[in-house]
Amino acid sequence: MFLHGTSSINEQGHLTIGGCDVTNLAQEFGTPLYIVDEALVRQRAGEYVKAFQASGLKFQVAYASKAFSVMAMCVIAEQEGLSLDVVSDGELYTALQAGFPAERIHFHGNNKTPDEINMALDANIGCFVVDNFVELDLLNALAAAQGKKVNILLRITPGVEAHTHDYISTGQQDSKFGFDLGNGAAKQAIAKALTLSNLEVLGVHSHIGSQIFEVEGFRMAVDKVAGFAVDIRSELGLTFKVINLGGGFGIRYVEGDTPLPISEYVGAITNAIITNFKAADFPLPEIWVEPGRSMVGDAGTTLYTVGTNKNIPGVRKYIAVDGGMTDNPRPALYQSRYEALLANRANDPAEETVSVAGKCCESGDMLIWDLELPKAESGDLLAVFCTGAYNYAMASNYNRIRRPAVVFVKDGSADLAVKRESLHNIVENDVIPARLAKSALAK
Ligand code: PLP
Repeated sequence: MFLHGTSSINEQGHLTIGGCDVTNLAQEFGTPLYIVDEALVRQRAGEYVKAFQASGLKFQVAYASKAFSVMAMCVIAEQEGLSLDVVSDGELYTALQAGFPAERIHFHGNNKTPDEINMALDANIGCFVVDNFVELDLLNALAAAQGKKVNILLRITPGVEAHTHDYISTGQQDSKFGFDLGNGAAKQAIAKALTLSNLEVLGVHSHIGSQIFEVEGFRMAVDKVAGFAVDIRSELGLTFKVINLGGGFGIRYVEGDTPLPISEYVGAITNAIITNFKAADFPLPEIWVEPGRSMVGDAGTTLYTVGTNKNIPGVRKYIAVDGGMTDNPRPALYQSRYEALLANRANDPAEETVSVAGKCCESGDMLIWDLELPKAESGDLLAVFCTGAYNYAMASNYNRIRRPAVVFVKDGSADLAVKRESLHNIVENDVIPARLAKSALAK
């Protein structure tokens, strides 16, 4: 059985999460429903903090809010002592509205607009992660206009790319993000930043990929960044105070996935930092990381109601649920895989292999291929696990389907964090231009 965090099966054979029977949640909040296991989110945050404390290094764990940006999550991040990484005015606004301390917010992105930069300057956020030469000049000018000097990290592409089990060391990295280390752009960027009087260069940032199951890629990135730090100190006289190693720590979506414990990722990074920087007689920098998926991914479960089915003898049986690519576009986008069970009959033995389709007008709107399940009937509840990251955050209104509600569950109570969208929400920003309305009246 594929259960995470506080999930278990009760005497009625119902899935429970955070002490709440999901059949009751379906009745109270409707389906589809995103359910967040709050205790598991807090546990993950604590694992990061504890692992860094054990290293003795100064650190910030910045939750990458792109994974799941809602105000309740920002409050939890704040309570757990995390910092927050945002990449748009919307994510920044969400954090500020939630009362998240601005000085612990880091602003990312490869095309921050002047309005977004001004909003972040107005709020006095803690750090901008500068991505390119255009942004260096723009940020300096806008900070000067406000009479401020702002902390920056420069995002560099270190020439290491990691995906799950593969990591590669590349010479010149083909990426839309950051200043390339290999071709000298990163050094030029630091030299330039040092001439801009409204920017304070704290150090550099590197993010090598996502859903990574090994530590080797992180070690390689640390080696490269440490070598760069030594070069910059001797050539430009700047000593990095902060090194940010991004996110990308993997989680277990399906049985075969083999992520490492958080303490191992953090331990590998902090050990590599200590070894490299001590060897170079360099003051130990403060280490920042930006986990998104590994903070919230396995704490999320999406609950659907099964509706229709279609059996094509000898080919495949489809069962359709009341959501799909609108609440979880990841299978359609990247062939992501998920595990699921029938949440109202969790102890029933599997009887057939089915594929779970969504309700959108797209053949590619599939959530899971070839899932072993008891015979699912209309009205059964299907729980899909590990949907906490990049699900609600990536949800859309395709086919004008309403985005589901989000509930946080803990110790037997279930609390709404995001309301289900109403039909009114679907049309509230629509405007019928007057000339169309007039011609409609004339008919
Ligand atoms: N930091 C940066 C710069 C990213 O681009 C991402 C993800 O795309 C993250 C952090 C979070 O990554 P993950 O959710 O894999 O931990």
